[in-house]
Amino acid sequence: MRTVRAVTELRSALAPDRRAGRTIGLVPTMGALHEGHLSLIRRAREQCDVVVVSLFVNPAQFNEGADLERYPRAEERDAALAARAGTDVLLAPSVEEVYPPGFATAVEVLGVSDRLEGEIRGAAHFRGVSTVVTKLLNMAQPDVAYFGQKDAQQVVVIRRLVADLNQPVRVEVVPTVRESDGLAMSSRNALLDPDERRRALALPAALRAACELASVGERRTGALLSAAAEAMAPFDVEPEYVAIVDPDTFAALDALDGTGLLVLAARVGEVRLIDNVLLAPVATSIAATAETQTSAAIPAGASSGMPTSHLHQGEPTTCSA
Ligand code: AMP
Repeated sequence: MRTVRAVTELRSALAPDRRAGRTIGLVPTMGALHEGHLSLIRRAREQCDVVVVSLFVNPAQFNEGADLERYPRAEERDAALAARAGTDVLLAPSVEEVYPPGFATAVEVLGVSDRLEGEIRGAAHFRGVSTVVTKLLNMAQPDVAYFGQKDAQQVVVIRRLVADLNQPVRVEVVPTVRESDGLAMSSRNALLDPDERRRALALPAALRAACELASVGERRTGALLSAAAEAMAPFDVEPEYVAIVDPDTFAALDALDGTGLLVLAARVGEVRLIDNVLLAPVATSIAATAETQTSAAIPAGASSGMPTSHLHQGEPTTCSA
């Protein structure tokens, strides 16, 4: 694996591959790599000839200075993990390389960027994401770019900008990878103290509660959302928001007539966590294959005794409704 810090270095590293017609996959990350990131890298390794991983903690998308300051950084460890997962080129630019003096351009995806995460974190958040993703796509010019379902609203924003700006790239979305107790993997999990780590199970418990209710036929979003919020109470965690939205547009849904995405954010201590689960129509119900049934479903410990749901580790987080 080769580490590059400058855009010119990246371009020359990739030029022979591009000339030879080899496919290039890009996995943008902010580092502090965990199994979630590694699943994106492995997917890129399977599908592309050349795998580029970017490590860049993007100041433009942080709405809180303290969050940016305490964001975990571990480049040496990340480089070893990325190499082991099959990365060919690691792009680790400085802030000045990405935003040189005089930098004055922004990419803004209207509409979806204003809701939920955008409303809570402010317009600058998705503007920062959209701008840096556009820049990374221009820097690496990949055939495929890989993103996690864990950041579902980010995926919708990125799909929009790729379509609107005629970016010649395919966006591939990889299922959320979870800890064995159901907590979605996140670089921010490392900032939780032991008590907060236990309380963070409020998030998978909420997803599970809504899934269970949907799986017995509940269609009213109000009832599903109340079930999710109530499941969080024993953990002493309140949702910052919990909503059921159209997975493609993030528009709020009044009823679960087709597929809906339950999205959730909560603060546990100082750490802000997000998660989501797809509530799918009844036709795909219990259609879990033998393989998915043996993969790690969120165990009962994550749910304060709620029954097991169809939320699987490493599988699309689809719950039958
Ligand atoms: P981040 O470093 O948090 O910006 O994440 C980089 C990429 O990894 C994004 O596309 C995330 O959606 C994805 N990602 C983060 N956590 C997970 C996870 N638990 N499972 C799958 N993908 C993830």
